[in-house]
Amino acid sequence: MRVERVLAPNPGPFTGPGTNTYVVSDGREAVILDPGPLDRGHEAAIVDTVGDRRVVAVVVTHTHPDHAPLANPLARELGTDTAGYAPGPDFEPDRLLREGDVIRVGGVALQVVFTPGHSSDHVCFRAGGVVFTGDHVLGPFPGQERTSVMVEDLAAYLESLEKILRLTPSRLYPGHGSEVDDPVALVSWYIRHRLEREREILAAVAGGASTVGEVVEKVYREVDPALFPMAARSVEAHLRKLSAEGRLTMAGEGWDARIEATR
Ligand SMILES: [Zn+2]
Repeated sequence: MRVERVLAPNPGPFTGPGTNTYVVSDGREAVILDPGPLDRGHEAAIVDTVGDRRVVAVVVTHTHPDHAPLANPLARELGTDTAGYAPGPDFEPDRLLREGDVIRVGGVALQVVFTPGHSSDHVCFRAGGVVFTGDHVLGPFPGQERTSVMVEDLAAYLESLEKILRLTPSRLYPGHGSEVDDPVALVSWYIRHRLEREREILAAVAGGASTVGEVVEKVYREVDPALFPMAARSVEAHLRKLSAEGRLTMAGEGWDARIEATR
């Protein structure tokens, strides 16, 4: 199996240096993974990297705008199909992928691993000890050792992290940032980091914080307030998990959602 990375020109605080598009190939066949945003220059760079290999599919890990919008136009240009877990705002899959499905590229089998959490439609792709993780687990960004992920559903996310651990991978190819050669250490850190944050949030609620905003101001007191809106989304995901577990009650949503400790 050969893995080539084509970096999309969309750097930013959430995308790091940009989206990693992967051309995964074996012999004369290739699959394109996470083609990225609609960008003609990036499309040309992908087509150039593919060369005269036959593209069996254009697949996406999930349908966020930095991963999927180029998929359909690129598949049309290359005369192939798109595949993903679900349709999205700018993505129409020709084939829906489910847990355990296999995409064959030459002699390589890319297996679908359903990993909801970052988004509800997220999948990873596994080939032996290698996992392509999309936004489920990110690689390090330049000048930053670890990058944590925006999470939509925290309980699902933690389960999906455990799922990756159970695969005991030896290398990850993330959707952003560089490759990870110590995946077990990194994913274990992700899990510890989330559980630690959960303890901090519970402590803030026990200490009297009664809205999402108050929890953010306590837990993130050392963080630049410009990042509070992003922190609030993460705190809200934590609070929803804790509320679903009956460990507190929550009413409303957003910054002013009311929290009450259960006793
Ligand atoms: Zn994403």
